[in-house]
Amino acid sequence: AVFDALNLKPELLQRLQEMKYHTPTAIQETAIPLLLEGHDVAGQAETGSGKTAAFGLPILNSVQLDLQQIQALIIVPTRELAVQVQKELKLYGQQLRNLKIGAFYGGHKFSEETASLAFPPQILVGTPGRIVDHLNRQTIDLKHIKQLVLDEADKLLEMGFQEELDQLMRNLPKKRQSILFSATMPDKVKGLVVRSLNKPKMLQV
Ligand code: AMP
Repeated sequence: AVFDALNLKPELLQRLQEMKYHTPTAIQETAIPLLLEGHDVAGQAETGSGKTAAFGLPILNSVQLDLQQIQALIIVPTRELAVQVQKELKLYGQQLRNLKIGAFYGGHKFSEETASLAFPPQILVGTPGRIVDHLNRQTIDLKHIKQLVLDEADKLLEMGFQEELDQLMRNLPKKRQSILFSATMPDKVKGLVVRSLNKPKMLQV
């Protein structure tokens, strides 16, 4: 298969060509069409599988560029991953005008993050503790969220973020698309899938 067969915006397909991405990886080939159709997806996929583009391209494809509100929230376990995902999505979205992607994480200057919300990003990547911190201080507006990603879900739970994730979920619109990726699928992660996703398609690569 080729990327051109996927129903993505020309700005994204052109960019993938420039980046010399010709063939979607296995997880991309199955997840992208399901996500573009609006399904929730729970995928078992490791780092190196291309999972960031698997959830990132459908998100970049669907955010409203003329709306300055946080529309997609990507939760990751560590600050390193937050920065990495932000960087990768910026590369894919380079040709999308008015696109803004933020990253909020522990150790980052809180006041700087709050100031950046004067012009909110369409996509926000963040660690659970820091996002909940913004939620509690009412600095962040999550009511325009249409897409949620829980990336490296097994690690999120291992690191003890259960409570933060539950609080976050209670504060997100019910009507949303939810995506979860995890390298492993123990019962704890399956429980999180049941609590946070709606009739998910289960994928394994
Ligand atoms: P990930 O599993 O998301 O960490 O991605 C692993 C690496 O593969 C990243 O550096 C991506 O830039 C790269 N990558 C993702 N999808 C593709 C693709 N379809 N073709 C070539 N490289 C890719």
